[in-house]
Amino acid sequence: MTKTNLEFKTEVKQLLDLMIHSLYSHKEIFLRELISNASDAIDRARYEALTNPGIMENEGEWKIKIIADKKAGTLTVSDNGIGMTRDEIIEALGTIARSGTREFLAALQSKELKDNPELIGQFGVGFYSSFMVADRVTVITRKAGLKGTGVKWESSADGFYTVEDVEKERKGTDVILHLKEDEKKYLEEWEIRRIVRRYSDYIEHPIVMDVEREKDSTLKKGEKVKIKEEETLNSRKAIWLKDKSQITQEEYNEFYKHISHDFSDPARVIHFKAEGTSEFTALLYIPSKAPLDIFFKDFEIGPTLYVKRVQIMEHCEQLIPRYLRFIRGVVDSSDLPLNISREMLQSNRQVEIINKNITRKVLDTLADMKKNEYDKYVSFYREFGRVLKEGIHLDFSRKETIADLLLFESTKKSPGEYTTLQAYVDNMPKDQKEIYYIVGTSRDEAASSPYLEAFREKGYEVLIMLDEIDDFIMGGLQEYKGKKIKSVIKGDISLDKSAESEKKDARKKFKELIELIKYELKDEVKDVRLSGRLKDTACCLVGEEGDPDPHMEKILKAMGQNIPARKRILEINPSHPLFEAMKGVFEKDPKSMMLQEYIRLLYDQALLLEGSKPRDPAAFANAVTRLMVKNAEEAASVQS
Ligand code: ADP
Repeated sequence: MTKTNLEFKTEVKQLLDLMIHSLYSHKEIFLRELISNASDAIDRARYEALTNPGIMENEGEWKIKIIADKKAGTLTVSDNGIGMTRDEIIEALGTIARSGTREFLAALQSKELKDNPELIGQFGVGFYSSFMVADRVTVITRKAGLKGTGVKWESSADGFYTVEDVEKERKGTDVILHLKEDEKKYLEEWEIRRIVRRYSDYIEHPIVMDVEREKDSTLKKGEKVKIKEEETLNSRKAIWLKDKSQITQEEYNEFYKHISHDFSDPARVIHFKAEGTSEFTALLYIPSKAPLDIFFKDFEIGPTLYVKRVQIMEHCEQLIPRYLRFIRGVVDSSDLPLNISREMLQSNRQVEIINKNITRKVLDTLADMKKNEYDKYVSFYREFGRVLKEGIHLDFSRKETIADLLLFESTKKSPGEYTTLQAYVDNMPKDQKEIYYIVGTSRDEAASSPYLEAFREKGYEVLIMLDEIDDFIMGGLQEYKGKKIKSVIKGDISLDKSAESEKKDARKKFKELIELIKYELKDEVKDVRLSGRLKDTACCLVGEEGDPDPHMEKILKAMGQNIPARKRILEINPSHPLFEAMKGVFEKDPKSMMLQEYIRLLYDQALLLEGSKPRDPAAFANAVTRLMVKNAEEAASVQS
């Protein structure tokens, strides 16, 4: 195939633009990214060789070679890993093949990113960081098993790249950077050594470079000769196998950045060795920032799995429950077979034990953070609380443990401050028997909701929940320390037992009016009753316990789920003067048109209060303005 000119996808163009003009001060990390890609490529080739030995060409040791050519001004990172086919390289280096590309684009445009170039790392920009130091990049690659034909990819980051078939003798990939004039320092031996040692020391494969050394001549005694020798620059010790006391925080952080592509330091490191029924070492990280795609279905979860130092797969999801999917890291097992496949992992007992162990360790660490590093925990919770909460639903056996890790806004806390279920229960007045929560779209809206009137009067705290999944989560939790958890907009609420007899009288008094409302709204609501939760507002709609919250219902509908229409209950406030007045009209003329209109308006108001729309907004607005006119005319006529 001849040389083809291809255009980068929009998101790559934008990314490249950012790279070329990058103000990022640690440009040297481009080398870490290229070495990391080379190392991944070798891991994949080695795994392939284990499972499919036929296709591998035997050409000696796996290695990554760095070649600095001062004359040509090029720096090459060469590996004998898996390589790429023509199609693969177009996919890998012409697009950004990841979920959440739209968010990614939006983030690229954001001012935050322009001001903090460090943030680019969290998107896994890897290869493209080469353009921070090079004005042209050439990649020559050949897929393992495809003898002969290789591909040459080249770009000057001007929106286009070319691909053409070339001969390449050995499998693997050479990435050749044509360095910018003022980035030539990366050709210096000491500079390359320094960067490799700083960022890539723990890479398991040798990273080699030809270095010139003066040696005693074997021909002439006393004379020195210059010879070139291949030298390994990295110590190659897997960091997770080192003793904790031998690892500095900086080394931990660098390793985290290597595996996560995140540029920020992790919030917490969890490094432990398990012995007994299952022998494994885990080096896990709690990140400090959530990746953009963490809520996407195809977000890849799980630590990298090694078996006796051989990488088996990245993102081994069987090792971790979904609700801890923010955890990054590596697990190195001594018990699993090297040729374990994804299918085998699913029902493997060792894997189950590792999963249980990791889960306990992570939850313990979070509990410890919450207790001893509260501010740090709050930052963690803001990033990942929504994910962690899913555990209430997904992990029945650890429901209480996870519940203890949850933070809540509440009517008794200022915005941005949190309480916990334990603190809530500890602060409950003696006569309060249950835990109450309200779901809303904003704190202000939730805190001023009429559904809270009776709670406010009693001085009861109400948890404010703003995540879409909260109603679902609280429904799953059901109770905490023997106290039932109740939504303030569901079920019958009667906080004041002493008011029961009053309620009975009111029921009698308004019996006929309630019957009329029930009749008029028979297609909309399943019942009309007196409210125990309203003090100042005339009416509201409530669900039965177990019904989904209206917010949740809307979200499910928007997601295209078929939600059966669920009638709710209209609660009216018997102490509101409106009902006294309506009763007066009813006694005069039970068929009054005015009453009928009022009943419709009541229902529409109740819809507004729960955050829904009136059934016919135009008719609702018309009715309200008509009443306003009437009222204003009356006021005017009284004055004149
Ligand atoms: P990431 O490594 O995060 O996927 P990169 O932009 O660094 O992002 O690389 C994109 C893809 O290009 C990789 O996922 C891989 O498929 C391919 N790639 C990059 N470098 C190499 C290499 N040296 N050998 C084989 N494939 C590579």
